[in-house]
Amino acid sequence: MESGIFAQNIQRFKTTSHKKRILRLSLMSQMKEIYEFVDRNSQRFLLEFRDFIRKPGISTENTGIKETVAWLAATMKENGVENVQVFETQRHPVILGRIGKAANRTLLVYGHYDVQPPGDRCDWRVNPFAADVVGDTIVGRGTCDMKNNLMATIQAAKVLLQCKKTLPINLIFLFEGEEEIGSPSLRPFVEDHKEELSCDSILCAEGGENKNGQTLLFHGLKGMLYVELSAESPNSGEVHSMYAGITDNPAWRLVSALQSLKEDERVLVPGFYEGVEGPSLKEKIKYGLARATISKKQLEDAFDLKVKDEMSASEALLEIFYRPTLNIDGLCSGYTVEKGIKTIVPKNAFAKIDMRLVPGQNPSTIMESMQKYLKGKGFADISAEKLGELPAYKVGPKERIVQAVTKALKEAVSKNIMTMPIAPGSGAMVWLPRILDKPMAFAGSGAVHMAHRPNEFITIEQYLRGIKLFATIYNNFSS
Ligand SMILES: [Zn+2]
Repeated sequence: MESGIFAQNIQRFKTTSHKKRILRLSLMSQMKEIYEFVDRNSQRFLLEFRDFIRKPGISTENTGIKETVAWLAATMKENGVENVQVFETQRHPVILGRIGKAANRTLLVYGHYDVQPPGDRCDWRVNPFAADVVGDTIVGRGTCDMKNNLMATIQAAKVLLQCKKTLPINLIFLFEGEEEIGSPSLRPFVEDHKEELSCDSILCAEGGENKNGQTLLFHGLKGMLYVELSAESPNSGEVHSMYAGITDNPAWRLVSALQSLKEDERVLVPGFYEGVEGPSLKEKIKYGLARATISKKQLEDAFDLKVKDEMSASEALLEIFYRPTLNIDGLCSGYTVEKGIKTIVPKNAFAKIDMRLVPGQNPSTIMESMQKYLKGKGFADISAEKLGELPAYKVGPKERIVQAVTKALKEAVSKNIMTMPIAPGSGAMVWLPRILDKPMAFAGSGAVHMAHRPNEFITIEQYLRGIKLFATIYNNFSS
């Protein structure tokens, strides 16, 4: 009897895995057809993308935003996006669009259409807004941050619509124009439009390849608290430095206050480390934190910087993924002309500091604690003003959208993947999963190390891979 049930179970198991294999093979052949369609129509996709690059859309300078929004809204409609709506905000508009309503699952796609200013034109070998083809690359501002991924998310939907006549999921596109200036309107917008944004999961079109050619796969972002510290002289202005012994110097006050915040790389603000969890044993093995699976040199190449001498590769990985930091971004006071001499006690002093936070830390609590701490240390004269805050975000690796992205990256982009528990950067798109209470995954294709730099580029192959990647994600998320 028992052996009979056993035999039946074995048979059932064989049938299920056989069915699964058939399903996988049919999905693979479907995707093959879709990839071939992308390659056959590559010229059309590339022309549209290059047109997008030619619309500057510089949020910080308010250059070309109107034209970019009008062009993007029209292009979304041409590609089959329905209900395209442009919402005005305090600064730059948010664009919403949808495809489909009838499918079982809805994915909300986030992207930003604004770009950083190009900087010094002399540093560019071509016009940053001409979208010139140089060899096998397209050069221009926004080619990898992130007009590439934004455009590819729309074109991927178009490809599926053309090949399969219908989309396997419902899509909502949310494109903002303030990411490069800290997204001040995004949080209130999401709070005010919760119903329209109702979805099962969120996909942030952020990602690509590092300098080593590895595709980045990360499961969250660090948070951030940005603070300005300032000290004022008790005098009405600068005074002669011959009186330095009998009057307070704001530059010294500020430097001492900064000094009081840290000792041996440890932040001394009470409660700063509350909620900080180190990696689990599983994560230690997975990310090579116990024994580095990557050399220090590879790590330096991947991040394009010099790692501290005393730090090993595994310590650096632990630091960048699991520990919070307190960093001085800028310091300014008094007379600073290079090689000049002027003997004064300055009028005031300023410092900008940022704290990169890990999941579990609360930026508002840390801010309050820092103000109290400075007062308690005798720095009541130092003012500490919060200029911005973002919570950290981490998504569970078992979430459907994370699985869909992980599989799609391997299928459509590359098997050479650098997996990270969270990315060391921060972004206001974390308000989407926080407010909508849905999981968010990250994916993209492009040279991420070129973001914000002169001669920003994407290879033509990377761009087309992006379309294939998003089409595969949409498909994987449905099945
Ligand atoms: Zn950027």
